[in-house]
Amino acid sequence: MEPLRAIDNRVRRWLFGRDFAVWYEPRYRLPLPSLEARTGLDTRRADFAAWFLVDRGAVRPSRVRRPARIAYDDLARVHAPELLESLDRPETLARIYSVDPGDVRPEELMTAVRLACGATLQAARSCVRPRPRSVARRELNLSGGFHHAGRARNGGFCPVNDVAVAVAALRHDGFRGRVAILDLDAHPPDGTADCLRADREVWIGSISGVDFGPLPGVDETVLAERAGDAEYLNALDGLLERMPPAQLAFVLAGGDVLAGDALGKLGLSLQGTRERDFRVADALFRVPSVWLPAGGYGPDAWKVLAGTGLALGTRSRARVPDGYDPLAKRYSRIAARLTPAELGPPAGEDELLLAELGQRSARPLLLGTYSAEGLELALARYGLLGELRRLGYGPFRVTVSNDAVGDRAQLFGRGEDGEEHLLIECVLEKREVAGEPVLYVHWLTLRHPLARFSAQRPPLPDQEVPGLGLAREMTALFARIVERLGLAGVAFRPAGFHTAYAGRAQLRFVDPGRQGRFEALIRDLAGIPLPAATAAVASGQVLLGGEPYRWEPDEMVLWRAPHAQDEQAIAAAREAARFTVRGP
Ligand SMILES: [Zn+2]
Repeated sequence: MEPLRAIDNRVRRWLFGRDFAVWYEPRYRLPLPSLEARTGLDTRRADFAAWFLVDRGAVRPSRVRRPARIAYDDLARVHAPELLESLDRPETLARIYSVDPGDVRPEELMTAVRLACGATLQAARSCVRPRPRSVARRELNLSGGFHHAGRARNGGFCPVNDVAVAVAALRHDGFRGRVAILDLDAHPPDGTADCLRADREVWIGSISGVDFGPLPGVDETVLAERAGDAEYLNALDGLLERMPPAQLAFVLAGGDVLAGDALGKLGLSLQGTRERDFRVADALFRVPSVWLPAGGYGPDAWKVLAGTGLALGTRSRARVPDGYDPLAKRYSRIAARLTPAELGPPAGEDELLLAELGQRSARPLLLGTYSAEGLELALARYGLLGELRRLGYGPFRVTVSNDAVGDRAQLFGRGEDGEEHLLIECVLEKREVAGEPVLYVHWLTLRHPLARFSAQRPPLPDQEVPGLGLAREMTALFARIVERLGLAGVAFRPAGFHTAYAGRAQLRFVDPGRQGRFEALIRDLAGIPLPAATAAVASGQVLLGGEPYRWEPDEMVLWRAPHAQDEQAIAAAREAARFTVRGP
């Protein structure tokens, strides 16, 4: 039976979502493994929002449109040839995204950007197409809003300006109507103002939490840091009143207005961002609009974007449920379609014979269940091999061996340098933790040997090469193994602060006091780059209550079923612990 929520959402979708479409492409994910650790930008934002909106019935899968890459000619209407030519160079893109040039594959990265630009233009064209309806179309592109790219300069995660390129293309098509651009990202639309300053029929309104100085042609409101919901919504009402009538609107529904964002300081709540979207949608009731996510540099930025989709698709004020993990939901669905025979074909007669003779099977299995071929198939279905291909690897090879302690699985991939590299290796075992059978991860390494360490990207302890940025995906995969094998959870023992930090979103220390101290450590080391923070903990530079703090390598677990945790004990330990860093 269909849950009531899904039926309700279908009715709401029919009522409110008939003129709504979503634009999305899996390749929106930026192929920059170090980006999240460096900037807080979770490259999975569009994926999470798309999966959530479909899962909740806010958008029908048939209304999720796939864009085409924007043409060079469309970009060239706005941007200087020198700017466009510079986008072939890793150094240019590394500067724009604040990563190391060794991390950038320009063709792959620009595909992500050009798909987003293509969607913004296709959505805009769809919006201005004449239709016999009184309710205006709303189209949500899950990537885009690159408002810092000007005609001849770029930066701030914006190589080119999708909104300006779309407006210029519509003008080229013959569209003469007034365009309103509501820039509700936490930063001012300097690039958009520069690109569109000659277009007399463009109005730009913006609310920001930082002052870039005078921006000619922009109705700009700068709010104080931590303005919060009430002050922001008040400013928004004023801006919407000043917005002139328009035939098309672009809305940059920025995720970086959210409290806790690494780069935006406005301090809105998730409910506040939803209210923002409702007020804008109501003001644009008769104006077709293209909605874009723009910035968002924190783990909850995807919820702002998903909320925009809920507001537009179903006029829903429902919260994204606490603890909703889009990756786990997605992987569970994929896991359900992987059959036991696919994951580990039953042993052939030869192997049965060997077993009868007391000899080891010629085909070792991981945890008695997964063959090497089965693991390779699973990694392909979950999309991991696709991501690795975008980083420059493939074809792939998986091996499984049964070691003295645990079973070892390895994934090798041929790199662009022609060499075969070890990319992923894990050693797993079924054992008991806190009296329950768990999947114990003795060893996990995620290696990106084509990337390079640099001053910007120093190695973490025990890292020989940079990481793949797939720790969250691996944890989600381990959780699927736990489900399939009927275990109670996934456990591991983080050797240092960085490994615990990587698992913090999904795993918790078994002991509440330990979990509380860990949360205090994260709180008190915030603002210190992860490698430096890890080194400070490892070298005794970090003090707890004035005494050198030694890392406690206790077990962290992700339980399959919710475990009652002593939240009070965690909070008490967290509040009692004060970490400081000893000066050099
Ligand atoms: Zn921003």
